[in-house]
Amino acid sequence: MDKRDPLQIARLLLEKISVSTPVHEVNQVFQELNELSEKDRRNTALLILEQMSSSNGHVIALLANEQLSSVGTIDDIPRLENAIKRLPQIESLGNWQKLIGDTLQKLQNRRDELCACHLPFSRSTEPDATTFETLERKVDPNWGPTTTLLRCRLCQTRYTLITEEGYHTPAYRWTRVI
Ligand SMILES: [Zn+2]
Repeated sequence: MDKRDPLQIARLLLEKISVSTPVHEVNQVFQELNELSEKDRRNTALLILEQMSSSNGHVIALLANEQLSSVGTIDDIPRLENAIKRLPQIESLGNWQKLIGDTLQKLQNRRDELCACHLPFSRSTEPDATTFETLERKVDPNWGPTTTLLRCRLCQTRYTLITEEGYHTPAYRWTRVI
């Protein structure tokens, strides 16, 4: 992708992708988005939802939604709320717009700390794999603490967990990544 400005990228995608574009081609174009910074990916996804029309079809909206679902932050809530207000006018979206509503709900839950991952008991021990996905793990070769970057599967909040092996039980230090 030659243009690195999110607005240019969003416009390019909206011009390129129509209702009749095969899904694998849409996917390919979106793969290129993953080379951008998270901030640009969020911005591009929001611009797509803000500017798309019925001629773009639901696939582009769903892929934009996928981006927001994985890298969206609570700062994106106001723009997403506004974008969602105009979605019912886009016929090609049909029932799919519910999924974008789910992403908004997830971000609102994260903002309001409604998800169970915010409760202290969720973070007192070793991370439960059904709640948290491990994004990265750094093991100290000299028996120092292990640093793990985790993401809640439900609300996508990220945490850094530092695990120190004690004499009897390991100590866990959780920090929420803002
Ligand atoms: Zn959560």
